[in-house]
This record gives sequence, C-alpha cells and structure tokens, in this order.
Amino acid sequence: MLGGAAQFGKKILAISRDLLFPVFCISCRTEGEWLCQPCLEKLQLEIKPQVFQHPYLSKVIALADYKNETVARLIHLLKYEYVEEIGEIFEKLIEEFIRQNAEIILNGRPSAIIPIPLHKKRYLERGFNQAEILAESWGRHLGVPILKNVLIRSRQTKTQVGLNGIERRSNLRGAFTLRQPLVNIDRVILVDDVFTTGSTMEEAARVLRSNGIKEVWGEVIARES
Ligand SMILES: [Zn+2]
Repeated sequence: MLGGAAQFGKKILAISRDLLFPVFCISCRTEGEWLCQPCLEKLQLEIKPQVFQHPYLSKVIALADYKNETVARLIHLLKYEYVEEIGEIFEKLIEEFIRQNAEIILNGRPSAIIPIPLHKKRYLERGFNQAEILAESWGRHLGVPILKNVLIRSRQTKTQVGLNGIERRSNLRGAFTLRQPLVNIDRVILVDDVFTTGSTMEEAARVLRSNGIKEVWGEVIARES
C-alpha cells in the first residue's frame, strides 16, 4: 500500500506525463484514455469468455481470446511497456465478467487467490507484477482473499517465447516454491495474464496440489492458442 504522499506524488507524475505525452485510445485514437468508454463498452460486448480444463487445473477461465487485437494490445502495454494503469481497464473487464458469470467462478467456493509470481529480478525490472494487479481485481470483486508472496518464483527461467509445449514444461520445472504451508485452504485460484500452452500455470498448480491443495483453477485475461 502506498502512503498518501506517495499516492499524491504518483498522481502528479501521471498528470505531468499526460501533459507531455498525451494518451490516445488504442482503438479509436481519441485523446484522453488508453481505452475510451465507448471502446471499452464495445470490447465488453465482443469478447467471448472461455472455460476449459487442463492438467492439474480443474478449470481455466479466460476472459478473451488473444486474437482480439484490443486485448492483445492492452496486455502488451501492461507487460512490456510497463503501463501499470492498464490494470484499471482490466479491472473493469473483470468486474463486468464477474457480474455476469459469478456462478461459474464461485462454484466450488475458492478460499484464496494466488497470483503467478515473477522472479525477483524480473519484478525489479518491471516495478510490478501484472498477475498481482489482476489478482487484486479478481479478489476485490469476488470477495476472496489474495495470498501474495506465498508462492514464489525460486528459480529464474528463460523466456517462454519461442519454446514449444515440452520445452516450456522442462524450462519451468522446479521454478516455483511454496514458502509456507497453506492451512485451511482447499481451493485456490491462480491468476495470470495470458494462458498459452498452460505450462506456467500447470507447474504452479502442480506445486500447490503436491502441498495438499485439493483443487486449483486458473483465471487469465486471454487465451492464446
Ligand atoms: Zn476509443
């Protein structure tokens, strides 16, 4: 949590940056926001959530397909251009999704939400963990507590980009460690930004399951297939 002064400082920085580098809607180019209200509403109508299964994961919920250009652009801004406030747009998408589909998500009563951790080095480079930002949105709107820094990325892994499913799996083997036992927790929701082959989430879920968690499912913004 940031203190009042830090929040204020952050706001001032954001305002001066907007004056120097005005922001344009990525969809219609109107000046003012990364995604203007009409384009956000249009996106909410066009995205098609998907629910599917995967090894170690009883279900995975993806809000959209990565083929949706607006969604892909937003993820890119958040993840690779470090635009942290894109998290606010995803929060609106998550909020609306939960409003319409609460029964799919809450069926089975999850006891905790865990963001897929970044390795410390990657975290310091980016300044935030995008999965943690998304997990906070899911947690706020589902009323489920978030456990941060419990599952950690103990080993730095190569980038998964360009690797196939088998290579991704072996790249990730042993990447996650549980720092403390999870007591009174049966069902966990893992949160990440994108689900590609699922190897990251699968490895995290494997660690949780081998530590006594009965059921794990995943929630992501986009499925890339
Ligand atoms: Zn727009």
